[in-house]
Amino acid sequence: MSETEKHQFQAEIQQLLDIVIHSLYTDKEIFIRELISNAADACEKYRFLQSTGKETHESDIEPKISIATDDQAKTITITDTGVGMTREELVENLGTIAHSGSKAFLKQLKEQKETPDANLIGQFGVGFYSAFMVAEEVQVQTRSYQADKPGHSWTSTGQGSYEIDNAPDISRGTRILVKLKDDDKEFSEAAKVEAIIKRYSNFVPFPIELNGELTNKVSAIWARSKNEIKEEEYKEFYEFIGHDHEAPLGRLHFSADAPLAIQSLLFIPSKNIENMGMGRSDNEVNLYCRKVLIEPKAKKLFPDWLRFLKGVVDSEDLPLNISRESMQDSSLMQKLNKVITTRFLKYLDELSKKDADQFNKIYDEYQRFLKEGVISDFTHRDALGKLLRFETSTLDKGQKTSLTEYVARMKEEQKEIFFVFAPTRETAESSPYYEAFQSKGFEVLFVYDPWDEMVMENLARFEEKTITAAERAEIKIDSPDDQSALSAEEVEDLGKWMKENLGESIDQVKASERLVDSPAVVVDADKTMTANMRRLMKALNQESGPTKYDLEINPRHEVIKRLHATKTADEDLAKAVTAQLFDNARMAAGVVDDPRELVTRLNSLLEKVLAEKK
Ligand code: ADP
Ligand code: MG
Repeated sequence: MSETEKHQFQAEIQQLLDIVIHSLYTDKEIFIRELISNAADACEKYRFLQSTGKETHESDIEPKISIATDDQAKTITITDTGVGMTREELVENLGTIAHSGSKAFLKQLKEQKETPDANLIGQFGVGFYSAFMVAEEVQVQTRSYQADKPGHSWTSTGQGSYEIDNAPDISRGTRILVKLKDDDKEFSEAAKVEAIIKRYSNFVPFPIELNGELTNKVSAIWARSKNEIKEEEYKEFYEFIGHDHEAPLGRLHFSADAPLAIQSLLFIPSKNIENMGMGRSDNEVNLYCRKVLIEPKAKKLFPDWLRFLKGVVDSEDLPLNISRESMQDSSLMQKLNKVITTRFLKYLDELSKKDADQFNKIYDEYQRFLKEGVISDFTHRDALGKLLRFETSTLDKGQKTSLTEYVARMKEEQKEIFFVFAPTRETAESSPYYEAFQSKGFEVLFVYDPWDEMVMENLARFEEKTITAAERAEIKIDSPDDQSALSAEEVEDLGKWMKENLGESIDQVKASERLVDSPAVVVDADKTMTANMRRLMKALNQESGPTKYDLEINPRHEVIKRLHATKTADEDLAKAVTAQLFDNARMAAGVVDDPRELVTRLNSLLEKVLAEKK
């Protein structure tokens, strides 16, 4: 007696089905992810029912998922020993698109006031139909966990109708046989299918066997509570997802419920590959929803400057069945990004207090990224500012301070945060720009990274204090009355003469109130620039306008005093000395491009000095 019954899909259902098949998903391969997710849900429901003491058919069979490929017959079969379906459920769940049996299951639990701690993936009721992207025909055989319900089969080509028949003698669970279209026969190749399972479904919490072999050996530890995970498990997990055998420098494992449900496990690799000249790194953080991969290396998950991270972000709030493109513009992604980035910065800040050594290791390796963040990411600028570390005049070489510590040490009369940019500690300490600060006992940060000046420029303020380059600071030494210093008139007279001789590149020559040991210093006439910034712009081939300097001279310095006298006594010598003073000052500022003229002049000055000794 044939029990075959033919059912028509309703017209609008057929339309919806066409959308699923032709445009919802970008990659055909995700049909495997969807069928495995359904199988996992069926296993999870079974486990849940069993745990609540329900009688189940064939209770000795453990929930698991088995996949078989046959490249001769061009089929792939996904079998699970989960809850299965009754005839009514078959019609309801597979005959009605956009009806999720899983969602209904949870709803029913809630209505019965049972705690729904069954962790189900499905909720949209479209995943199953993704099989029709690649299928000529799909055959489902299923038998419910309820002992008195017989099995059934369901068959459809995804066009117009499906058929239901009896299949009384099968075991509990569901078997889905996909007969592949000729164009899609690659999904019947074991190697191809294995790669897809590993990619999307590796962390599904039930064993997945492919042609008899277990494929998912590493478990989703991010979803477990921190204190029950052994170091060894973290190590194994990191090696698996990070493809890295060196222990990571840092690890953040956290979960949050609000504003979004997130479980995340992030690692800082031991090596910054961008330092090794390997080009730009790509974040290797995969985005999951309930342990199923949604987007590998999810681009929008972090700001660009966190591209060195590896790990996993799992959020239940993500729509699993929405294709990736639409995923990326979603405001949900932005929210996730903000929450995780904020949390990660908090982790670094806490680490810097709890384990400064470890933090410093991370800082040494990844400081460029944090600085890139200060420059490019307004949202997190203040939090990033707290993480910056610099050498400073009050600490020994090699030791670094945070801005927070610097501010705490500031003298009462000091209103701003100062820094000197120099290539080394030694040049910073002997820099003419540093003299006045040293004499006043003001702390000055020594920054050596050409980026730092831009970083300071963008940070601009820290804890309400303005950050200022020493060379642009308005600072005066508390000058002791020096009777022998040049008078204001003498300085003006000398300054005029010097400017005439130095020509175009000088805006004005004036008395300096900041110099102690140096005769002269150059300051960019455009107060928004520093020498280093000009150099950077030049290196980037950017026009920074004609360079004009103010030359500040020290009226207390022997060279300046003598120069004033010499300009009438020996004008040629005075001219050479003036040119040399200007070059020396430019050299101290690090802006001499071509030293040849300087060296020739210096040699002739030396000759003159020696000649006079004769
Ligand atoms: P979703 O998973 O979002 O609910 P699907 O279209 O993937 O939507 O599946 C529809 C419904 O079919 C599921 O909710 C479930 O009730 C049922 N179903 C699908 N696959 C299985 C299976 N392997 N075992 C038991 N029920 C299944
Ligand atoms: Mg599903």
